[in-house]
Formats: sequence, structure tokens, C-alpha cells
Amino acid sequence: MISEKMVNLVQNSSIIRAMFEEGKQLAEKYGEENVFDFSIGNPSVEPPKEVKEAIIDIITNESPNLVHGYMNNSGYEDVRAIIANHINGLHGTHFTEQNIVMTVGAAGGLNVIFKALLNKEEEVIVFAPYFGEYRSYVSNYDGKLVEISPNVKDFQPNLEEFRDKITPKTKAVLVNTPNNPTGVVYSEETICKMAEILEEKQQEYGTSIYLISDEPYRELVYDGIEVPYLTKYYKNTVVGYSYSKSLSLPGERIGYLVLPNEMDDFANVAAAVNVANRILGYVNAPSLMQRVIAKCVDAKVDVEIYNRNREVLYKKLMEYGYHCIKPQGTFYLFIEAMGGDDLAFANAAKKYNILIVPGRSFGCPGYCRIAYCVDYEKVINALPGFEKLAKEYQ
Ligand code: PLP
Repeated sequence: MISEKMVNLVQNSSIIRAMFEEGKQLAEKYGEENVFDFSIGNPSVEPPKEVKEAIIDIITNESPNLVHGYMNNSGYEDVRAIIANHINGLHGTHFTEQNIVMTVGAAGGLNVIFKALLNKEEEVIVFAPYFGEYRSYVSNYDGKLVEISPNVKDFQPNLEEFRDKITPKTKAVLVNTPNNPTGVVYSEETICKMAEILEEKQQEYGTSIYLISDEPYRELVYDGIEVPYLTKYYKNTVVGYSYSKSLSLPGERIGYLVLPNEMDDFANVAAAVNVANRILGYVNAPSLMQRVIAKCVDAKVDVEIYNRNREVLYKKLMEYGYHCIKPQGTFYLFIEAMGGDDLAFANAAKKYNILIVPGRSFGCPGYCRIAYCVDYEKVINALPGFEKLAKEYQ
């Protein structure tokens, strides 16, 4: 018998993964080219060529014991130092290898920091819409997820409600910008106000509230928009970064956490994160990939490829009568579900072999997410289906 907790988790298991499987079945039935699977955020752009070159160079020229061995749970010190310098160069920060912990992607990083921070029933605030897996990451450590309702005007966080929902049990606030599923980048004004509220509430309750910034999409932004670096606005910030999207390496499971010296209880948090990495069974982040990252910190995927999809999809969907905010980053577009019921709308889209994800999986019913990390031809060929779908509702 599996545990009671797992019974629920299996039952509620990610709708996105389920759709991914459905997409494969449809492809077998109708042919891959006739199925328009916009359900999953699996990067379609190839990793930069530097990644392949680095892999070949490392396995050819570096000592196998160094490349494939165990290491400090937090990762190779030289790799962490290279990453710290890279961040400092970009954001004017002053990190060293002591502030960086290599993780098994963003998911690994978030699990590690929650393992390190959360006591039973302590609260983690998230702003809807948010990445649905956060529910599990928090419940894994018996924390309580507290949702702030979506601000559908522009999908910047609802800060009035945020202020009201912070309690003495609030241990962390988890933000994701550029945001999955909306593609919105939280403005500097939003971040400043959020930091002000957090300072005020820490004072009021005499607690430490950690702001955790989940940033797998930091590099995927358009029109030159700046994404504020949150450690500069609030000292109790932990950044969770991932190369899954920024270098198109989701299967390789590599990312890092940034723990600034200035954060409350830094030494203990860093020690706890180091041990959490090991005892959660990650032990350490993949060794070969750490060494690859050291050689590829400046490498970038070609974001223009996603931008081309974004532009055509946004323009055409607007023409067909859909409503959505033009995404500033990521490779997602979050449209209002015609008819209002996101589940019904996503089901209706299947008639045209279009797979999109109902907004309720992101805590935001009434919307659907389109992941446009697919080939350009796929986007173009899906347009007639989107047009017919819209006509059904007009
Ligand atoms: N956070 C967000 C907002 C995501 O969209 C994803 C993946 O899609 C993750 C975390 C997990 O990323 P990783 O593959 O780095 O674990």
C-alpha cells in the first residue's frame, strides 16, 4: 500500500503531464504534424553550440575522477565561484562561491530551500497564477500554501491582499518572474512595494520572512525588458536559478540557489541547504553539467526564435477575438478562456487537435496557457484551428 499522502498526490498529479501523454497518443492517431501540442514547457530551441563543445572538451580532456566523482554537497567550488562572478558582473552584487549552491534544476533548488526552512504548518505565500508544482514542493515539508488571488488587470501581484495574508506563520513568499504561465515580468515598482510590505511585517511580528525568487525564465525576455534582481531590493531574498530553459537543458537537471550573506541566519541556512541537498537524495547536482556550466556561463539560446512565435501568435489570436496580455518573457501566453470555463475551453480545443492547459492548474480558472515553445510551422499550422475555435464562441 502506498502512503495516504501519495494517494492524493497521484490522484491530483499534474494535468500538464497528463496532457503531454495525451498529445503523444493523438500524434500516433493523427500523425505528429496534425497535432498542436502547446501543453508543456519543453524548450524547442536547441542548446547553444558551446554546450556540446564543452561536453566534448570535458570528457576528452579533464580527469575522469574529477568529472564523475562525488564532491561537496553544494557543488564544485570553482564552478560556484565562476557563477558568483557572472552574477556580480550582471547585477553589481558581491557574491562569492559561499553564496552559491548547485542544485538539481529549479525544482531541486526549491525543494532544498523549503526542506531547510519550513516547520510544520508554516506558510508559504504564492501569487496566482503560479506554477502548479509549488503545491507539492511546499506540502513535501508539511508547509501550508497560501494563495493570493490573481490580479487579472495586468497580472502584477495583488499587494493589498498580500499585506492582509501575511501572518506570524509566514515563512516564505515565492515569486516567479518572468512568470509561468502569464509571461509577465514583475515591475520594479511591484518589487519595491513588496519589499516594503515584507520589511513592515517582519518588524511587526519579529520574524524573518524569506522571499524566494524562482527564475528559470530570467533570460527569456523580449523588447529589452529588464528583470529586477531581487537580492538588491530585499535582504532576505533567496534566488533559485535553472539552466532548464535558459540553456534548453531541462533533462540535465542543473541550476543553483543564491544565498546572500546579508540574509537572516545565513550560516545556518547555508549549512541546512547543503545537508538538505544530500539527504533529499540529490546528494549533489550533476557533476558533468556543473563543469559544463562553468564553461558556458555566457552562452545564450536564441530567444528570437521564441519571439517570432510570440509575435505571430499574439497578433493572430487578437485578430480572432481572444484576450490576453502580451507576454514580456517566457514562452507562454495566458488567454482568457472563451465561455469562461477553462476546462471546457481546453476540451473544446482538442477538437482541432490543439492542446492547451486550463488555468486552474495555475490557481487561475477562466484562463488557459499556451506554451509556444514549438516549431514556428507548428504555430502557423495551428492558427486555423484557433480561429475556428474562437468562431464557435462568437
Ligand atoms: N519553476 C517554474 C516556474 C517552472 O516553470 C519550472 C518548469 O517548467 C520549474 C520551476 C522547474 O524547472 P527545472 O526543470 O529547472 O526543475
